[in-house]
Amino acid sequence: MAARPYNFAPGPAVLPDVVLERAAAEMLDWGGTGMSVIEMSHRGTHFEGIHQAALDRFKRLLNLPTSHSILFMQGGATAQNAILPLNLLGQNPKCDYVHTGHWSAKSIQEAKAYGDVHVAASAEAARGATINGTSADWPSFGYVPPESDWQVRADAAYLHICGNETIGGVEYPEFPEMAGLGAPNVPLVVDMSSHILSRRMDFSQIDLAYGGAQKNIGPSGLTFVILNHEVLQARFPAPMQHCPTVFDYRRVLDQNSLLNTPSTFAIYMAGLVFEWLEDQGGVEQMERENTRKAALLYSTLDASDFYKTRVAKAARSRMNVPFYLPDDRLYPLFLEQSKAAGLLNLKGHKAVGGLRASLYNAMPFEGVEALVSFLRTFEREHA
Ligand code: PMP
Repeated sequence: MAARPYNFAPGPAVLPDVVLERAAAEMLDWGGTGMSVIEMSHRGTHFEGIHQAALDRFKRLLNLPTSHSILFMQGGATAQNAILPLNLLGQNPKCDYVHTGHWSAKSIQEAKAYGDVHVAASAEAARGATINGTSADWPSFGYVPPESDWQVRADAAYLHICGNETIGGVEYPEFPEMAGLGAPNVPLVVDMSSHILSRRMDFSQIDLAYGGAQKNIGPSGLTFVILNHEVLQARFPAPMQHCPTVFDYRRVLDQNSLLNTPSTFAIYMAGLVFEWLEDQGGVEQMERENTRKAALLYSTLDASDFYKTRVAKAARSRMNVPFYLPDDRLYPLFLEQSKAAGLLNLKGHKAVGGLRASLYNAMPFEGVEALVSFLRTFEREHA
């Protein structure tokens, strides 16, 4: 097969060649069964093995404490925006959210149908003030609000943040500690859709994380939920009255994600990606590579007067890098020429315009080198 172009799409996104080749080789006959995984019973021993191996690898990669379990659900992160309040607001309707951009806004909007939503902090207002000793000039939704500004209700059922805003390119460099926010008993919930497995994360500080699989894990449709089952059982014994059974975390947990037919093929693909990640050296190695890739791209953009970025340096995403050209008329040409150079899907989201390069785990360093080389040439020709 000829070398494939580099795919910078935000999700569904690039997967490692070796994973796709393995899936292709096993497509008609998995493990001598004469069946594709797609054709297997989700309750048979073959799929049981595939499912359990994927869960075990995922847990190892995340260095997950024994207090936590993983659920495989469906409906994407968008469904979780409703499933989460349906599950955690059974007794206490108060839920707090931090608003850092497009995806946290969606979560906030959905939760309003179920609970008493309080926005504990927002990055909506542009800031030019000195914050935490450094002078900052941050545009609207171009930063993570400093924790000193957060007002979390100490009796909220949970606090929700979006760990990485895929569209705005804003990532929490680290997650908040609830005690430091004056809310030691409030569980922390993180939308991890676009940076799961991209860096080390301490799950002892996170009570629930969720996301769609289509960025760092595998096919869309599969949704992961990582939750502290001890907290769930002790503090959230029942969901809201009208929570559908298939969305009830307790029921899905009890049935080991086999309450109904799961996304079997997507789970198999996720398992292959987890195996690849372990072969690469796990999350620590991904973090090193992702840091190196993002540093190369940001340093190229920073060194140029032609390209512009908008996000405060401390909150720059290592996964999604939005950037802008000096003249709107150049975008069609940029996209046409980058595509011809084998660099695909660099168009920014319509909500913010511009360009965006997504650098998920499966994007090799060589892809970023090719992008940077294209950026320099384009700048030379059009500056
Ligand atoms: N949250 C974040 C951070 C996302 O990036 C996305 C999708 N790009 C979503 C939520 C929505 O996910 P889904 O399409 O899986 O419902």
